[in-house]
Amino acid sequence: MLLKITILPGDGIGPEVTDEAVRVLNNVARRFNHELSLDRKEVGGAALLSSNHPLPDDTIHSCLASGAVLLGAVGGPSFDKFPKHLRPESGLLRLRRELGAFANLRPAVCFPALEDCSPLRPEVVRGTDILIVRELLGGIYFGEPRVTQGASGNREALDTMRYTEPEIERIARMAFELARTRRRMVTSVDKANVLDCSRLWRDVVTGVAQDYADIKLGHMYVDSAAMLLVSRPADFDVLLTENMFGDILSDEAGGIVGSLGLLASASIGGTVGLYEPVHGSAPDIAGRGIANPLGAILSAAMLLRYSFKLEREAGSIEAAVSSVLAAGHRMRDLAKPGQTALTTAEMGAKVAEAVVPQMAIH
Ligand code: NAD
Repeated sequence: MLLKITILPGDGIGPEVTDEAVRVLNNVARRFNHELSLDRKEVGGAALLSSNHPLPDDTIHSCLASGAVLLGAVGGPSFDKFPKHLRPESGLLRLRRELGAFANLRPAVCFPALEDCSPLRPEVVRGTDILIVRELLGGIYFGEPRVTQGASGNREALDTMRYTEPEIERIARMAFELARTRRRMVTSVDKANVLDCSRLWRDVVTGVAQDYADIKLGHMYVDSAAMLLVSRPADFDVLLTENMFGDILSDEAGGIVGSLGLLASASIGGTVGLYEPVHGSAPDIAGRGIANPLGAILSAAMLLRYSFKLEREAGSIEAAVSSVLAAGHRMRDLAKPGQTALTTAEMGAKVAEAVVPQMAIH
């Protein structure tokens, strides 16, 4: 299969971690007989410096012409002086909009070897494997009107939470479909005891569930969900929720399974899927070869699974990461006192090697 992917390394540690994800993808392609066609483009601060725009047309065209996009990270303090519309982050927001992704997928998986890296007790976090499915284009982050008005001392601010039935239905269907590939449970999170949007949400999700008799659906208020995530995280399978609740709960779920450097994400449902580690450009460690590349590498696994439907190939990356961690290899952000930390390139090479155990990697 031809895998046409646009690579957007971006800024800070973005290029370092993306290089390792590409190294792993190359080995997956060799092992499973796929052809990789990679188009590297600039985004964020790197694009701003070379072409005066954080998302050049050339980059958008490449993304829209590819099967998937793999991004590193954007931003950094040196770009803070630019006007808002030219900041690296505005390039990324526009890219997400251009690609039309309405579903943000954030797995929170506790690797057995990392049980003791969680702030929770090992017996609490053990077995945690959650897929958060967050609605990404609606709700209070996009609703109009949004305004701050009035004289100083007496100002008022207004944000609008709005959802339509079709917006809820399409994300619900996606969550149920994803649950079919997992443990067949969906927990839909809302605040239906208070919010009209949540009552509509619950109603529509319940309706969609009629088409998925094989999936167990539960509803939960967002406050209960926040508590259960830290007390019984292993009870969740697919957690479906709206934009703002998902923003908050996905960070909470990420926090309980270990380091930020491990977390991957996918934004799908539009014309082309966008895959990126959850972390930012980490300017404090950029260029030192110590950034954890596993979030980027696991994002590449999601890319194979969701954009190319290559489940075996995606699983081979996840198994490789798990085995490298089980063998005791750690990056600085996961190492305990006395443990040696690998460099970014060494970790990438270990995972790439574990993907094709029979090949020697140089
Ligand atoms: P950050 O995620 O870049 O860093 C937070 C902390 O985590 C830092 O101490 C950093 O060293 C550490 N860290 C992050 N990724 C790591 C990794 N892979 N390995 C080891 N340690 C890692 O967040 P920040 O410092 O708030 O933001 C820095 C810049 O990144 C800002 O310009 C911000 O706007 C941007 N940002 C971009 C994205 C994105 O591109 N999607 C996301 C968040 C922040």
